[in-house]
Amino acid sequence: MPHEAISVFDIFKIGVGPSSSHTLGPWRAAQRFSESLDKRGILSQVVSIRVLLYGSLAKTGVGHGTDIAVQLGLASLDPVTIEVNSITHRIDDIKKMQRILLHGKHEVVFNPQEDIEFFFSESLPFHPNALSFLVTLQNGEAIAETYYSIGGGFVIKEGETSNSLQEVQLPFPIDKAEDLLHWCRTTGLSISEVVMENEHSWRTEDETRKGMLHIWQVMKDCIFRGCHTDGILPGGLQVTRRASDLNKKLLQGRPYTDYDSWIKAIKDGGNGFQYTLDWVSCFALAVNEENASFGRVVTAPTNGAAGVIPAVLHYFVAFCDGDNEEKILQFMLTAAEAGSIFKKGATISAAMGGCQAEIGVSSAMAAAGLTEALGGSQRQALMAAEIAMEHHLGLTCDPIGGLVQIPCIERNTMGAIKAITASQLALQSTPDFAKVSLDTVIKTMWDTARDMSFKYKETSEGGLAMHIPISLPEC
Ligand code: SF4
Repeated sequence: MPHEAISVFDIFKIGVGPSSSHTLGPWRAAQRFSESLDKRGILSQVVSIRVLLYGSLAKTGVGHGTDIAVQLGLASLDPVTIEVNSITHRIDDIKKMQRILLHGKHEVVFNPQEDIEFFFSESLPFHPNALSFLVTLQNGEAIAETYYSIGGGFVIKEGETSNSLQEVQLPFPIDKAEDLLHWCRTTGLSISEVVMENEHSWRTEDETRKGMLHIWQVMKDCIFRGCHTDGILPGGLQVTRRASDLNKKLLQGRPYTDYDSWIKAIKDGGNGFQYTLDWVSCFALAVNEENASFGRVVTAPTNGAAGVIPAVLHYFVAFCDGDNEEKILQFMLTAAEAGSIFKKGATISAAMGGCQAEIGVSSAMAAAGLTEALGGSQRQALMAAEIAMEHHLGLTCDPIGGLVQIPCIERNTMGAIKAITASQLALQSTPDFAKVSLDTVIKTMWDTARDMSFKYKETSEGGLAMHIPISLPEC
């Protein structure tokens, strides 16, 4: 049987906000499609292209930048390397010229307002986040491909079962928390060590470490930028960015131009309860304000929930004396494995499971990572993940105006604080006495997801989204 092998780099991905399932996934799908045209030798014969967005991608696609993402993907621009400040003018150029450079090579007439269609009341059966690409060739032949954005930036093409059933044989195959504990017991390794051994199946340890430290650097840059940027978030809801003001208040207006002196100043402020709490919130707000502004973030495991893990990592660095690369790697490896187990046993897609699948999973991941980094046992780390998810069960997704702003940005502060509380609870507990296992809470989360009304699954047709008006500009 092929085994679903998920790497730490599948869970933590460098990308662009605001949404992993509605921005990053469709972007990747469009890249794959335009690349496939090139590989089949038919790119230069394309005379027209249309993109059809279904279900949740149609309902909240404009707010989540899905239309922007597919245009950038069709042009084969990469979310990891694109200069985020160039996005607006690239999209404006396509609109003005009514042309797109398919796969960066072949110019095709393209009017985004007509050639991207939103099917608000139509969903494809496999997954609510579906999109189809239709091209016509010079000889009149029509080609269509459908992709699904299944959460966290993962994409599969119609007919594939999973894009992550990879041709690698892991030394320690893991589907459930119980499997992970089994390998820890039989090898005597910590969770992060087991995960690192598995990562060797893809690349050398040195490459894994360098890649992860790069991700950590992107998280740090994102928080620092978010804590030093004022203004109103785009999208029409007129949400004011708050991290920068809070940063100024907490540092009594003292300016810091580089990350290291800024972190030192935060540490020098002590570790009083309110001060710590304010900083954890500030870190999380900073990331998700960047995310909402189409900024560069790390998907962890989604973009809407991208602030939880960096905020808890910064709590660890600034308030737990955790400024240590080894410990940061331990945290990230453990957190990634927890996220992978949730993806396999339930979902990390809000369109499938509501916000419990985003903020809930990120909180559980952060709780596990923090617990291992603080010296907890393997069972305490998994217990922490269980506690964090247990108290996110049933959390709905109802973003106002389809924007990843309200409740999303603040919700990351809650996910981070719950992760820290869950970790502390686990560190003070004996897992032998726990009544609920991580595998049981994952199953419960999945059952809850299936029972949840579609209104609360990233459609903006229920909850807060129904009660707060927003006038989006014509686009
Ligand atoms: S409500 Fe939660 S799941 Fe929905 S978009 Fe916001 S952060 Fe993502």
